[in-house]
Amino acid sequence: MGSLFPLPRRKSRTAKAGNLIMGGEAPVSVQSMTNTDTRDVAATVRQIHNLEKAGCELVRVAVPDMQAVEALARIKEEISIPLAADIHFDYRLAVEALRAGCDKVRINPGNIGGREKVEKVVEAAKLTGAAIRIGVNSGSLEPEILNKYGRPSSEALSESALKNIRMMEELGFDNFVVSVKASDVERTVNSYRILARECDYPLHIGVTEAGDEVGGLIKSSAALGILLGEGIGDTIRISLTGNPVKEVEAGFILLRALKLRYIGIEYISCPTCGRTEVDVEAVLKKIKKKLSDIKVPLSVAVMGCAVNGPGEAQEADAGIAGGKGEFLLFMKGKPVRKISEDIVVEEFVKIVREIAVGKS
Ligand code: SF4
Repeated sequence: MGSLFPLPRRKSRTAKAGNLIMGGEAPVSVQSMTNTDTRDVAATVRQIHNLEKAGCELVRVAVPDMQAVEALARIKEEISIPLAADIHFDYRLAVEALRAGCDKVRINPGNIGGREKVEKVVEAAKLTGAAIRIGVNSGSLEPEILNKYGRPSSEALSESALKNIRMMEELGFDNFVVSVKASDVERTVNSYRILARECDYPLHIGVTEAGDEVGGLIKSSAALGILLGEGIGDTIRISLTGNPVKEVEAGFILLRALKLRYIGIEYISCPTCGRTEVDVEAVLKKIKKKLSDIKVPLSVAVMGCAVNGPGEAQEADAGIAGGKGEFLLFMKGKPVRKISEDIVVEEFVKIVREIAVGKS
């Protein structure tokens, strides 16, 4: 079997939210959602700034009522990435969110309430040039489709999406993306596969209610890894319970692992073993924290020993391998000099920053 890489990419149309293009030739983008109370503008803006620093390319906020709508214009003024409003149940919130300047609204066909209401949202999006996401969710499918299939199967989820896609087409609107999220890998993958076969609109992929850190990361990586491996997916969100900055970091790590995006530092670190005589975990943690702002593609290794370390991380731009009370600095697998353990974090961070400047 030949190499899987570079991964194929399904040909899709494009949708545009603010300055972000999704689909077509655009790189697969990484987005997230705040978990603050949207009405608390200061807290929401603070979280969005942290997401921006992590590289987030579009942020969604929950808009449960008109008070939240009123906060949107003020939030929009303070941030520099496109803003999406997440709407359930009340189409008027979507219309007002668009009037407030949102670049995109996510509506759930299962609870937005029929064609006339969707039509009003589409009219508003046409006026402002905003995008829409048809966000089908396994937990809130339209009753008629749920009755037909008896459960929110992949066929049911994709049928809901396709029905709403046709509606958008009839309304003469094409600036939209589609998602069909389930909470398990099998249904998520199968739903998107059907959708990818049946339409050429850009797809927002993700697993809904994926879980907390380790469980959520593994479930999302399994589903998104399969889909992206088949060329399916134009924008991703890795849903995790907790701080959304982790979602963005995870998104870029996944895209980098699949060689779809090259942003920031790829870390190579060994699991440590009986040969380790330094605290690799603590050193790695400190280095990662200090270098979290670097967006230049680099690979950096932090290894437990000098016996195998440099060899195991030959491709790294720079690396350190532990000894007794010191680390061996190596570049592209070649030893350079020794650095004492007590100053290794500061020294190594300085060296990596210099390489990053040289590459930018
Ligand atoms: Fe063990 Fe050295 Fe390999 Fe780390 S690099 S796992 S310390 S042999």
